Amino acid sequence: SERTLVLVKPDGVERGLVGEVISRIERKGLKLAAMDLRQVDRKLAEQHYAEHDGKPFFESLLEFITSGPVLAAVVEGPRAISAFRQIAGGTDPVDKAEAGSLRGDYALEVQYNLVHGSDSPESAERELKLWFPDLQA
Ligand code: ATP
Repeated sequence: SERTLVLVKPDGVERGLVGEVISRIERKGLKLAAMDLRQVDRKLAEQHYAEHDGKPFFESLLEFITSGPVLAAVVEGPRAISAFRQIAGGTDPVDKAEAGSLRGDYALEVQYNLVHGSDSPESAERELKLWFPDLQA
């Protein structure tokens, strides 16, 4: 079994799509190990998106992710990292995400793409420590 960090970004919370995201996670057979709604501060945003520091959209991405509450969840199951990325769809909600995925069904713009899921075991480990430091291994 594997764990991944899932976020419903401020656009998803604002639009009332938290239930839809959780529902799809549960229907796939993945389990919720922890979950809470939180306001992300600038420091956490910078750490979470450190790999994008210096890119043209970095500042705008930080503003967006700190603009309203985010649902943060630890999602668990066999191949949970890939399984959630399949549910989410590709980063660009129109060109990459397939219809039937969360982004394919509910998003239009790359920045406002509804959800985040860790992209590798290394990212998952780093992100889970950052967002859920007290979680048991
Ligand atoms: P996430 O890490 O949120 O799951 P991802 O792994 O699919 O997304 P990344 O390439 O890591 O995509 O980009 C992280 C986030 O930065 C994207 O989800 C999106 O919100 C934002 N982003 C990426 N590329 C752009 C861009 N060209 N313009 C604006 N925002 C972008």
